[in-house]
Amino acid sequence: MIRVLLMLLVCFTFTYGQAQNLPAAPKGCGYDHYVHTLEQQYPGFKAQADQLLQDVKKRPQLAKDLEIYRIPVVVHIVYKEESQNIPEDQIKDVIDVLNEDFRRKNADAELIREDFLDVVGDPFIEFELAAVERVETQATFELDLLGGSLPDNVKQTAEGGSDAWDTQKYLNIWVCNIEGGSLLGYAYPPADLAHWPDGANAPSPELDGVVIHQEVFRRTGTHTASGLLGMDEVTIPVRGRTITHEVGHYLGLRHIWGDGLLSILGIPDCDADDGVVDTPQQGVSSQFACDAEQNTCEEGETDKLDMFENFMDYAREDCLNSFTKGQIAIMRSVLENERSGLIDQVSNTIAIVDDQDFHVYPNPAKGQLFIESSLQENTPYQVRLVDTQGRMVKAPALGRPADRQTVNVSGLPAGLYGLVILQGDKQYFQKVVIR
Ligand SMILES: [Zn+2]
Repeated sequence: MIRVLLMLLVCFTFTYGQAQNLPAAPKGCGYDHYVHTLEQQYPGFKAQADQLLQDVKKRPQLAKDLEIYRIPVVVHIVYKEESQNIPEDQIKDVIDVLNEDFRRKNADAELIREDFLDVVGDPFIEFELAAVERVETQATFELDLLGGSLPDNVKQTAEGGSDAWDTQKYLNIWVCNIEGGSLLGYAYPPADLAHWPDGANAPSPELDGVVIHQEVFRRTGTHTASGLLGMDEVTIPVRGRTITHEVGHYLGLRHIWGDGLLSILGIPDCDADDGVVDTPQQGVSSQFACDAEQNTCEEGETDKLDMFENFMDYAREDCLNSFTKGQIAIMRSVLENERSGLIDQVSNTIAIVDDQDFHVYPNPAKGQLFIESSLQENTPYQVRLVDTQGRMVKAPALGRPADRQTVNVSGLPAGLYGLVILQGDKQYFQKVVIR
């Protein structure tokens, strides 16, 4: 993988003459002049400023946190009737849902309740449709509850399904009619994750991936099913979130309620945990509802309500909208380790935005920092402010080139910061002083 490339604006190139002399008139932003003044006041400041860029470059974790991981996807449409032979447009639409949910670009992300605003984030994971395999079949795909077996025959050509592409390199998604109605989808997590029980992973590598009921492999509509959570019949809204949820499992996430034994009976089990630090302790699923009062486990002073917005809950699909930072850390770690083959073969390159593209001022800044873009296309961009330790201190909402973006920097300790702007797969970096 090609790692992050960083660069400086010409405006911030340090041009010093004799130490005693004032520098030439500041070029545009006044930064040189300010750094010179600081250097007089605090000898060594310039060296520290120069060191920041070197530090950011050397901090693989910071670079990693900002890197977009792209996963190539193969979708297998295994159908019995022509109506189940899902058209290309619908497949792309579902991939778009993944790309929204795993980049926090989903329009409903703003519905997250204030209590959870601090813990949710952008996973920086994207999906590329590499291929669609279509197989017409007479086979049936059924969950055998008594026998305890899943319809993995959909993953085998010899069993009436469709053989996986190399599961080390591709996320395989099989879409079929899962008989019985009570199973909307399933996925195996990678092997040997500490927060999963032994044997939760795929029985063999060629069976690794995600299976989705064709009825919920779409962005809109409703689905009526019987047997979900023991309910006789229930109609649920479909927003393509079954796939988001299953890919969450595939990348190592457990249900937010921790899958305690009692929870199967609908009884809160507050001893079970999902292994994620920043999700609330939740004893049972949201049962395809969005109850803003539901609070199954008391956690003392740090108590939080149950989080029906979490993609790993079973809430109504139109209430799901977020992953937490703890969940994101697990998924990204899985992509860097257990499932690294998925991101090794595609380009995760982050290119450099031309230094004319963004104007950041004033610099030094006090209270507010403004960003203006001269880009013609209006692709949104993200801003990250990092301190000299490489810690992210500000991550304001998405900006658009047509608008002036304002970053509130009041309350931040005075000093040197790095401003990173991410737009699509491009990245731009410059130093900023906060007064
Ligand atoms: Zn699940």
